[in-house]
Amino acid sequence: MTNSSALSSARTQTLIGRLGEIRTDWQLDEIRALFALPFADLIYHAQRVHRANFDPNEVQVSTLLSIKTGACPEDCAYCSQSIRFETGLKSEPLMDMEDVLEKARVAKANGATRFCMGAAYRSPKPKQLAQIVEMVKGVRAMGMETCVTLGMVNSEQARQLKDAGLDYYNHNLDTSESYYKEIITTRTYQDRLDTLQAVREAGINVCCGGILGMGETQLDRAQLLHTLATLPQHPESVPINQLMQVEGTPLHGATKVEPFDFVRAIAVARLLMPRAHVRLSAGRSDMSDETQALCFLAGANSIFYGDKLLTTENPDENHDRDLFERLGIRGEVLRTEASCRRAENAEAATA
Ligand code: SF4
Repeated sequence: MTNSSALSSARTQTLIGRLGEIRTDWQLDEIRALFALPFADLIYHAQRVHRANFDPNEVQVSTLLSIKTGACPEDCAYCSQSIRFETGLKSEPLMDMEDVLEKARVAKANGATRFCMGAAYRSPKPKQLAQIVEMVKGVRAMGMETCVTLGMVNSEQARQLKDAGLDYYNHNLDTSESYYKEIITTRTYQDRLDTLQAVREAGINVCCGGILGMGETQLDRAQLLHTLATLPQHPESVPINQLMQVEGTPLHGATKVEPFDFVRAIAVARLLMPRAHVRLSAGRSDMSDETQALCFLAGANSIFYGDKLLTTENPDENHDRDLFERLGIRGEVLRTEASCRRAENAEAATA
């Protein structure tokens, strides 16, 4: 899929002319046409839309901590934490509050503005959720944004997290609805959409994306992005992961995603959801610096920082610092509602 578009040239022109609009009525053939644009055109439009919404030299930095590791009853075919696969991973119970807060302090000192906590649950039990609620409160009190990923949650659980001050809930769709059954059988695509709805209705920001390199087609990638971009409201954060292959999981040995195809997916995500933070997420340790730079050029503006991503590798902090320096990238400063209001007031006062 490189240079042929299924759209008429008139529709292609209209599509290009509307890029930058916030739309939730994207058509699948439009998305396929974006994927099919010549690479330079696609990157140009993605960068144009990116600059209209963000400082192109700023990247938001999050740190991810596994607060409960392994022994997960789900069967996600890519995951080292599923109890169903022999991956040699050592399971660990829910961490103590103080240990979590200490990790958050270190992350903050290293420049992270958001602290993400992941627990390998199908869905948290009431006692577990109560403990996590306290962790959210504690991290928030340090002045960091908080994010958790805990599996499925219902409206009541989402409300408890919102009341604790949770900023983001991560729950990925992983892939297209049609390919999904090849990847997970223990929960449905609709279960995932229901969790996203519960989170959204509770007033928590949504972090939702997918994984590339699981044997899916370009059409599956277009369908995944179509589902994300036609949710009633775009996710605020869209992680695009490249599969980290783990020995012992069914997807170990899957065909790797071609770097340009990965960059294309980032660019199309940027065009479909202009105001979302598009996160260059898992898989960076397998990418060259040049591929990462292309991803930033295509509109990626968020990364995970720290040498571990839950249970898989991530580039080490020094390498990331060096890459940012070489590209002239700054970590995005956390703009709290209060600081935005202060900036707006200052602007109004000097106008
Ligand atoms: S991805 Fe999450 S839900 Fe799936 S097996 Fe891993 S920890 Fe469990």
